[in-house]
Amino acid sequence: MAVNVAEHAGRVADILGHPGKMPIGDEWVAASSGATLTTSDPGTGRALAEVPLAGAEDVDRAVSEARQAFTTWRRTAPLERAAILWRIADTLEAHADELALLETLDTGKPLEHSRGYDLNSAINEFRYMSGLAARVNGRLSPLSTMPSGVFHSYTRLEPLGVIGAITPWNFPLANASWKIAPALACGNTVVLKPSEETPLTTIRAAELMLQAGLPAGVVNVVTGDGSTGQALVRHPGVNKITFTGSTSTGQEIARVAAENMTRVSLELGGKSPNVIFADADIEAAILGAVGGGFWDSGEVCSSGSRLYVERPALDRVLEGLRKATEAMPIGHGLEPDTAIGPLISARHLDRVSGYVEEARGEGVEVAFGGERLDREGHFYRPTALLGASPDSKVINEEIFGPVLTVVPFDDATEVIDAANATSYGLAAGVWTSDIAKAHHFSENVEAGVVWVNSYGVVDPTMPWGGLKKSGWGRENGEQALHEFTEAKAVCMQVGSL
Ligand code: NDP
Repeated sequence: MAVNVAEHAGRVADILGHPGKMPIGDEWVAASSGATLTTSDPGTGRALAEVPLAGAEDVDRAVSEARQAFTTWRRTAPLERAAILWRIADTLEAHADELALLETLDTGKPLEHSRGYDLNSAINEFRYMSGLAARVNGRLSPLSTMPSGVFHSYTRLEPLGVIGAITPWNFPLANASWKIAPALACGNTVVLKPSEETPLTTIRAAELMLQAGLPAGVVNVVTGDGSTGQALVRHPGVNKITFTGSTSTGQEIARVAAENMTRVSLELGGKSPNVIFADADIEAAILGAVGGGFWDSGEVCSSGSRLYVERPALDRVLEGLRKATEAMPIGHGLEPDTAIGPLISARHLDRVSGYVEEARGEGVEVAFGGERLDREGHFYRPTALLGASPDSKVINEEIFGPVLTVVPFDDATEVIDAANATSYGLAAGVWTSDIAKAHHFSENVEAGVVWVNSYGVVDPTMPWGGLKKSGWGRENGEQALHEFTEAKAVCMQVGSL
């Protein structure tokens, strides 16, 4: 029986609890201007909910609440912070089904992905950062230029203060958690601006955090559009911006943040190479290429969107990709067997299809896919492009849709040069049974994460971030603690010279 999408969409207001409001301090408020935004279901194109369109005044209020909460949160005992983060994970887990439903309705991704990846990623992030909250330590540093025993010198890792967090629409709750959990573990407070396309899970999760015992004002949400994000970046009371989104917005944020010397970390776009050598387990590599290229409709920053295949394996890989994608049901994210959901918006569908049409016009072969679905919602078929030139747009620009370029290669040096030839450096994959090739590739590819004989494994313990135009800084892992603390050196004379 077909799923009744309208009935599920009708539950959104009940799940949200405070429809049309955002949590600032200990209140649920509308925008001071009264302005709102509508978020819609990409699987139907129909409206789901209205949220406030926060302006500079609302951002100012949220920052001031976060600043006030910082004075006590920073002094909360680390183990108490750890306990609250753990309780947040438990509370998210207890509400995982409703959060997954919201995420699927708002982003379009299959429910199985929302529950299996997004929710687990958020829950695991809070648990992992709970474990680190009592380990935000400085270190004793014996001096080299002064007599030992006379000076005692150590570093303190101190929280930065108010963190402005800005997230994109593809992994709303997971990305919010990757920012909130480490920021809180280190003693900071947060004002978070979700994407206008997908604000719902962030709003609901903030409410659940309060239920889990997080003091009011430690996490505040300002819903809105790019202008809300701009107000947050410009605000002099924000100590750091942690941003995930496109490279062009990241560049603008870096420029604006420089005015106040606000710290910035940026998780940006990618155009990641996924390389299959002929000696690999080809069936496993095909599955990895399908997941790397088409999972969540390719709306993934680390999508393995440039597939390089050693020439003897090309035909088998292409045929395997075609068969595997033909077997993937495309549909609304709530339909139980859906493997490929819609793209986020009609505008984005036009953008993705525009790239393919331009490539087709340049003589690039569309090996399979290359078309929209004739149904409501914003659907595009998994697509492979063969024969794109190294300087073409489809090889160099992030399409952020289910579009793979497939390029044959003849030797390891050639493919590493090709892999490194874009301005991005987020992720890379390599498939081979030769451990020497795997190490050589891992050492020489310009990427923040390299997957060997796998693609897309993400874990809270693994640092995440990019090189080149893929950004600055790292989320996850112990490295995240350095993104949310400042080292202070203390040097004390304790004896006579
Ligand atoms: P955008 O850069 O358009 O938007 C990201 C966020 O920034 C949104 O909340 C957006 O608001 C806000 N924003 C827009 N303009 C400004 C501004 N001038 N100042 C401050 N904030 C602003 O990215 P998308 O939402 O389109 O997300 C897709 C991009 O995110 C892709 O390039 C993808 O690669 C990248 N990404 C990177 C990841 C990583 O870990 N490296 C992970 C996930 C995505 P609004 O949406 O309301 O306009």
